[in-house]
Amino acid sequence: MKLKSVLKISFCLILIVCLLTPSVFGYVPFGCKWSDHRASIYYKSSVPSQYKTAMGNASSTWNQAGANFSYYNTSSASNANITVAFESTQQYPGIAAVTLRWLNASNRSQFDRCAITLNSSGNWTTNPGLIQFFENDVETVTLHEFGHTLGLNESYAIGSIMMTPPPFWTQRTLGNDDKNGVKYIYGVRSALKSIGLDSTLELNLNHEFNKSYGSTLNDKNLENFDDIVVITFTYQPISKEDLANNADLIVRGKVINVLPAYWNTDDGFAPSDKYGEESQKYEIYHDVVIEINEIYKGKTENKTVIFRQIGGAVDNTIRINLDSINYQKNDDVILYLYKDIENTKVSKSEFYFAYPVQGELLVLDNDTIVNSYGEKVDWVEREQYI
Ligand SMILES: [Zn+2]
Repeated sequence: MKLKSVLKISFCLILIVCLLTPSVFGYVPFGCKWSDHRASIYYKSSVPSQYKTAMGNASSTWNQAGANFSYYNTSSASNANITVAFESTQQYPGIAAVTLRWLNASNRSQFDRCAITLNSSGNWTTNPGLIQFFENDVETVTLHEFGHTLGLNESYAIGSIMMTPPPFWTQRTLGNDDKNGVKYIYGVRSALKSIGLDSTLELNLNHEFNKSYGSTLNDKNLENFDDIVVITFTYQPISKEDLANNADLIVRGKVINVLPAYWNTDDGFAPSDKYGEESQKYEIYHDVVIEINEIYKGKTENKTVIFRQIGGAVDNTIRINLDSINYQKNDDVILYLYKDIENTKVSKSEFYFAYPVQGELLVLDNDTIVNSYGEKVDWVEREQYI
């Protein structure tokens, strides 16, 4: 056989393998799905009617992906699989939208319910202009969040709606990677019967970057928890000038301690109603203590700073944040910090939040600086701020 044909055949084989295997270059199944291949959506009264139309388009787009899965609307709040709200999300600083995914207590590869909230204090539109970087198109962002509620994590494929980070331009269609992702989870829709992989999924509780970085999340024994919620958010991108201007403190330092987690209730214990209407105001946080090595902006008398992160485990509840770096002791970090906001007041000492994704950075051994999506960041220079 000629070398050319060998190469051709090898290339085709590699292509076939790539198409069949989810990888770090494409869609990432979350490891959880709706067992009956459908999920009902309930729009809360906080959602403006013109947004509801845009969101309805987004759910239909997924229904037309060719997978054996459909979204449908319900007017019953109590029976809804997914609730959609347009409300303030001040417990998650700096985000445009957040999706919570509750795992079924008796079968961890099935969803119990999901909740999508678009941050009502963000800049939203249903009629975006050409340049849309700081304005979110309702349909685009909802299309991305609905991808999470059917069982996809962030994708690495350019052109996919599930791309990391999600597109902040208007994209009201799915990429081929998105379609392959939903077909991988639910199988291919057929007129006669459902065919396809309809795979048994392994729970993927990490962003691929966090996984390769050596996160310990997968080691946690989920059997110890009755209440498992996975949080994934779409952050509100800001310019690097605003990121620096808005920060009270920009520091480089070393993680010296990761403190136990607690709820943002007045007493730090679980809210009495974890599932009701009020439940989405509550969140679990944990504090990370940073020993300051260098201050790029701001002033503090202390040698350490407390940086608060979303997520953690309290008693039988674990809330896992997929979009932040799961900082470990001894990590070399650069943080764009700003002071506490109203809704997260539980603390004995002063603490800060970091701006999501853009403001939570990690310095790797080779001095490469990356954000929580593993993307290289090269614009952190002390001279910019002093
Ligand atoms: Zn996302």
